[in-house]
Amino acid sequence: MKKVVSLVAPFYNESGNVSEFFRRVNDVAAALPQYDFEVIAVNDGSRDNTWNELLEAHRRYPRVHVVDLSRNFGKEAALTAGLDRAMGDAVVPIDSDLQHPPELIADMLAQWEKGAEVVLAQRTDRVTDGALQKLTAVQFYRFHNKISNIQVPANVGDFRLMDKAVVEALRKLPENHRFMKGLFAWVGFRTVTIPYDHGPRGAGVSSFNFWKLWNLALEGITSFSTAPLKIWTYVGLGASVFALLYALLITVKTMLFGIDVPGYASLMVSVMFIGGVQLIGIGVLGEYIGRIYHEVKRRPVYLVRESHGGAKD
Ligand code: UDP
Ligand code: MG
Repeated sequence: MKKVVSLVAPFYNESGNVSEFFRRVNDVAAALPQYDFEVIAVNDGSRDNTWNELLEAHRRYPRVHVVDLSRNFGKEAALTAGLDRAMGDAVVPIDSDLQHPPELIADMLAQWEKGAEVVLAQRTDRVTDGALQKLTAVQFYRFHNKISNIQVPANVGDFRLMDKAVVEALRKLPENHRFMKGLFAWVGFRTVTIPYDHGPRGAGVSSFNFWKLWNLALEGITSFSTAPLKIWTYVGLGASVFALLYALLITVKTMLFGIDVPGYASLMVSVMFIGGVQLIGIGVLGEYIGRIYHEVKRRPVYLVRESHGGAKD
């Protein structure tokens, strides 16, 4: 019996990349005949011709499973849909825009055979990113890892090989908010890191703009840390101590020098400052409460319109 390797690829408006993606994956599979390859291609509500092209790939290549989600659920949900269907002894999530070279899978498999349960592909540089994106990425990882009890390695994306045991552990995580990088790190397992060149996109444009990345960062932080909630106790404590000392100072000053002319400007500024700080605190609470609200509804992470080629079809 050959070992099965599952590739899980999310597709969102990737019409320009579908045929090239399958051609390259097919070459990789042909070069590794000791394994059985399957591809789970998840169409995440693309608005272009991606789904038809995936159907064509499914007809052309025997072990391509195609899954059509009922709308765009986002990359994390699309990956979850693919991971739920992956039957492999090893599973590799991979971007469909050819930024993750499928050729690296051979090296990943070699590490896996040597006993690694997770093989992380770490990008050697960030040349395809703008200066701002590079800086914010570095700062995000630094901040996230400082305040969370799990460590998300820097410059590591979803491109990785996972043993079946790891995928099973991931399937057991019940949360709806799926910050995959964090979940991957949370499950642990024996991990090896190998470098790769993160190339430019095949065709099309990235669907992650600044706002989406900001929200992804918030998702990451709120999913794995409660530090932003707890900090308010100390902010409040600090403000109270300061107020107490200031009250003492005013009392002593009044007793020694009599009543001063009251300062309207300083009063205004401190009222507004404290108001602002309180609103920020409420905003942070809101971020968490909003997530609790979504989480308790227990809605499915994704919905499938149709799928072909999988064991469940
Ligand atoms: N993607 C997806 N759903 C989305 C956005 C993106 O399935 O809502 C897929 C996309 O097709 C690609 C991968 O996720 O395979 C990474 O997306 P993208 O290249 O836009 O992000 P970047 O590489 O810039 O982080
Ligand atoms: Mg990309």
